[in-house]
Amino acid sequence: MKQLQQFASDNYSGICPESLAYLEKVNRNHEFSYGDDKWTAMACDKFRELFEADCDVFFVFNGTAGNALSLAAMCSSYHSIICQESAHVETDECGATEFFSHGAKLLNASGEMGKLQARDVEKLVTKRSDIHYPKPKAISVTQATELGTVYTVNELESLHKMADKHSLKIHMDGARFANAIAFLDLPPRAITVDCGIDVLCFGGSKNGLAVGEAVIFFDRALADEFAYRCKQAGQLAAKMRFLAAQWLGLLENGAWLRYGRHSNECAAILEAEIRNIPELSIMFPRQANSVFVRMPESVIRSLYDKGWHFYTFIGVGGARLMCSWDTKEETISAFIADLKQALAG
Ligand SMILES: *Cc1c(COP(=O)(O)O)cnc(C)c1O
Repeated sequence: MKQLQQFASDNYSGICPESLAYLEKVNRNHEFSYGDDKWTAMACDKFRELFEADCDVFFVFNGTAGNALSLAAMCSSYHSIICQESAHVETDECGATEFFSHGAKLLNASGEMGKLQARDVEKLVTKRSDIHYPKPKAISVTQATELGTVYTVNELESLHKMADKHSLKIHMDGARFANAIAFLDLPPRAITVDCGIDVLCFGGSKNGLAVGEAVIFFDRALADEFAYRCKQAGQLAAKMRFLAAQWLGLLENGAWLRYGRHSNECAAILEAEIRNIPELSIMFPRQANSVFVRMPESVIRSLYDKGWHFYTFIGVGGARLMCSWDTKEETISAFIADLKQALAG
């Protein structure tokens, strides 16, 4: 394989230099374990600064755990959680939410462009009110969505109103939170605290960490005993400083947002190149760091043969090209050249 970089997922990328430097820094001495160290406390404070909110912060190994455990903290076993049908929690987490909540059911809404809509939430909530139906207790939104689109403040506000009307909590899967903020160009609290988000899972591995996500509770009552959930689920790192300190690298000088912007910009370049090719079409508005392209099966096969990796099972078919915090322009040019060759051949 000649390619040094791929468009398969933003988690194909490595660790960014800022976080790597912190790993080296916290490796010099012994430290308190299980999150009682100063680096973990500093990283939590950085998040409070970033969101201008007195939130509770936990560090877990991956997004599946962050989502499932925080949703379980919102629900009892007989509750339900409303999400869009393409939501990662529904399609890509192997039933983790149902497992860790001991039975809470995910209810799927259709919703265009990967987005949950307030009217669909209401339909699902009011469909039944009897004891035989799992009681809706929360909604889950993905920001940016699995289709690379981004909820606007207005869209989040209307979901917030609907959630309040029916006493639902709101969970945000922010595996690509940085990309959403980069696209919207708003302060992080504008699409979280100010829109009634109760818990945010802030993605680290796709934003430049080696490993780890931050679970941020704006509704601090929900964080009560959350540490026990993490421990029981095998998500309490003994050497927590290595999870937490990486975040200091991302948060201290705004690298998280710079990388979010960079991967969005790379996707924009890729999109522009592809729009110039008449045989191909772009499937969804390109807002974050992914480009979904409808391309002939033979072209997909030919690109695979040339050593390219990308997914074709996300969303509704087509190829998903995902840019990362470290995607290089030469990777984009090489891909486009191979793509044109595949189309010609
Ligand atoms: C990548 C991703 C996650 C996290 O996945 P893990 O592999 O469990 O870290 C969660 N939600 C979305 C939308 C994702 O794209």
